[in-house]
Amino acid sequence: MARVTLDRVRKIYPNGFEAVKPCSFTIPDGEFLVLVGPSGCGKSTLLRMIAGLEHITEGTLGIGERVVNTLDPADRDIAMVFQNYALYPHMTVRKNIGYGLKNRRVSASDIAAKVEDAARMLNLTDYLDRKPSQLSGGQRQRVAMGRAIVRDPALFLFDEPLSNLDAKLRNQMRIEIKALQRRLGVTSIYVTHDQVEAMTMADRIVVLNGGRIEQIGTPSEIYHRPASTFVASFMGAPPMNLIRAQIDAEGLHLGDRTPLAAAPDHYRGAVTLGIRPEDVRIGRGSATFDVTLVEELGAHRLLHGQVAGQAFTAHVLKDTEVSTGALPIELPQAALTLFDHQTGVRL
Ligand code: ATP
Repeated sequence: MARVTLDRVRKIYPNGFEAVKPCSFTIPDGEFLVLVGPSGCGKSTLLRMIAGLEHITEGTLGIGERVVNTLDPADRDIAMVFQNYALYPHMTVRKNIGYGLKNRRVSASDIAAKVEDAARMLNLTDYLDRKPSQLSGGQRQRVAMGRAIVRDPALFLFDEPLSNLDAKLRNQMRIEIKALQRRLGVTSIYVTHDQVEAMTMADRIVVLNGGRIEQIGTPSEIYHRPASTFVASFMGAPPMNLIRAQIDAEGLHLGDRTPLAAAPDHYRGAVTLGIRPEDVRIGRGSATFDVTLVEELGAHRLLHGQVAGQAFTAHVLKDTEVSTGALPIELPQAALTLFDHQTGVRL
C-alpha cells in the first residue's frame, strides 16, 4: 500500500512541447484517483511518468516513502493495466496471469496458488487453460487485471482499460474494477476521457485541460461545484447549461432583461450563468424556454431549444407534460453557478 505524492511534476517533450505543466497533489493510501480530460490534455503523459515509462522533466514523484523519479518501472512496485490488455497470445490464461512472477524468485507452487486465487476473484477459473484468442473482450480485460493483482503491488495504474469494450460490458467491468479495488484496498490511478467512468469510479477526480489541473475533488464536488466553465461543460451528460447573464442592482437577468433571481451581493456586471439540466423547473417561472426538440429516453426526457437566444437543455422525468414551443421555466437560485464571463472561473 502506498501514498503517492506529486510535487510540481512537469513534462516537456524533447520538441519543446510542455505536455504537463507543474502538477502537485497527493493520493492517500488506498484512494481510487481518476485522471480525466479531453484528448491531448496530458493524462497519459502524467500516468506514464508515474509508471516510469516517461522521463520526468522537473519535480518530485514519491511512491510510499521513496522518491522514485529515477527508478526503473520494475523497481517502483506498480502494476499497470493497459487498454490493449498486452496479453501474450501464445500463452494460456494461467501463464499470462503468472508471468510477471516468474522473474521474482517466487516458487512454482506459490505462483500456482496466487494465480488460482486471482482467477477465483475474477471469475476466470474455468478459462485458465484457454489462450487469449479464445476469450471475450471482457474476459481478456480480467486476465490483464489478474496479472496486475498477483504481483501484489503498492499501486495500480490503469490506462483507459475499458475503451475497447462495448458500452454494456464497459458498465459491467467498471463496477467489477471498482469493487475489486475496494476489496484489495490498493491505491489506484485510472486514466479515462469518459466522464461517466470518472464520476462513477473515482474517490477523487483530477480534471486536466491543456496540461494543467482545472480541479481536484470528489465526484460530487466536481459535479455540483465545478471550478470553471471547462469543468462544468466536460462533466455531466448533457453538460451544464452555460448562458450569458447580467447582474445589476435589480438582480440577475438574461440579455432580454428577464429577471431570474436576486443579485448576489458580491458581484456586478456580465457573468456566465450555469445550471444543470435536471435543476431547471418546467411549467412556471419568469424565463421562457423555446423548446424545439423533445428527446424521449424512457425514464426521462431531454428538452432542447433556446433561452434568451442561447442553446439550452432541460431534463424532466417521464411523467412531466411537455411539448415543443414556448414554456415558462424557473431557474432556482440555489441551483445556479456563476462564472466570470471572461476567464470562466467560478465566482
Ligand atoms: P489521449 O486521450 O488522446 O490519449 P492524453 O490526454 O492522454 O490524450 P497525452 O498522450 O498525454 O494526452 O499527450 C499530451 C500532449 O502531448 C498532446 O498534445 C500530445 O500531442 C503531446 N505529446 C505526446 N507525446 C509526445 C512526444 N513524444 N513528443 C511531443 N509531444 C507529445
